Amino acid sequence: MKAKEIIIDRNLCKGCSICIHVCPKKTLGISEDINEYGLFYPKVEDLASCIVCRLCELYCPDFAIEVVQE
Ligand code: SF4
Ligand code: SF4
Repeated sequence: MKAKEIIIDRNLCKGCSICIHVCPKKTLGISEDINEYGLFYPKVEDLASCIVCRLCELYCPDFAIEVVQE
């Protein structure tokens, strides 16, 4: 499976990095920018590597990340 898009709502994110650590494909990394609360949110490093396992969605405590399947 391939992802068409990974949507990150930066202002829902609390910068815990759980999504980055649970991703088996290292699709996500930490943004250089901060959100409105001063927290580093995730960014997509390599969309093509995503296998749509949805672990990032499942483990995000704040429903801040959504994977859209191709
Ligand atoms: S769906 Fe899976 S492979 Fe894709 S970014 Fe989330 S954890 Fe990584
Ligand atoms: S798991 Fe959710 S709250 Fe934590 S860094 Fe990822 S998107 Fe942000």
